[in-house]
Amino acid sequence: MFSEDKGGKLGPVSRIIDYHIHTLFSDGFFSPRDMIQAAAERGIQEVCITDHYSIWKPALSELDLEEYFTTLDEIRSHELLGTKVFIGIEVDLSTIDSLYPLQEFQWDLILFEYVFAQPSWEKKFQQLLNFKKKNPNYNIGLAHTRFTRVSESRIDYVLNKIREFEIIIELNISYGNYMDQWFNYLDDEYWYSIGSDAHHKDSLGNTTLAVNFLKERSIPLTRIIPL
Ligand SMILES: [Zn+2]
Repeated sequence: MFSEDKGGKLGPVSRIIDYHIHTLFSDGFFSPRDMIQAAAERGIQEVCITDHYSIWKPALSELDLEEYFTTLDEIRSHELLGTKVFIGIEVDLSTIDSLYPLQEFQWDLILFEYVFAQPSWEKKFQQLLNFKKKNPNYNIGLAHTRFTRVSESRIDYVLNKIREFEIIIELNISYGNYMDQWFNYLDDEYWYSIGSDAHHKDSLGNTTLAVNFLKERSIPLTRIIPL
C-alpha cells in the first residue's frame, strides 16, 4: 500500500496507491465516483480505475469505451478529496482480438489478463508486445498474471521480453499471483504495479502483501511504475 516517491521530484514522501479497481462500468458494485470517494476516505492518494474490456459481460464493449473514458476524465479533472485519479482498463486478451479501438484514448495503464493462461499464449504475448511496440508511451501491464502455460524452457524468453519491452508485472492480492514459482526470478530489473482488484469499497487499498513481496526481495519501491 505504501510506495516511495519515484524520483525525488516530490521529495521523500510515501504515496499510497491502488492501481486495479472495478466499477459499475464492468463487474464492480459502485460507481467510479463512489469508489474514488471511498478510496479518498481510506487515505489512498492515487487510484487507477481498470474496468474489464471483454466479450464476457458485465464488461466494457468497444462501444462503451468513449463514455467510460469521458466519465473518468471528467472525474479526475477535479481531484476528489486529494486523491489522484488515473484511467486504466483491463483487457481480456482471451476474448478481445483487435486492440485497435484502444488506441483512440490516452490510457494511464492498460492491464492485460489471461495472457499465459491458454495453450496459444505465445500468440497472445506477441500481440501484446506488438501493441507496446506500436504504442511505446502506454504503460502496459500484466494483470494478476501467472505464467501457467509457460514451460521451464520458455520462461527466460518471456522474462527477457518483459524486461526489454518494460511490461509491468502486477502484484495482485486477490489472486495471490506472487506465489507463482516463476516469480522467484523477479528482481529490481522489472517494473511493477500493485492493485487490490477491488469490486467493493471494502477491498480498496488492500495491497500490503504485494508491497511485502517487493520488500522481502529488497526490490526498491521505486520499481512500482509511476503513472
Ligand atoms: Zn480485475
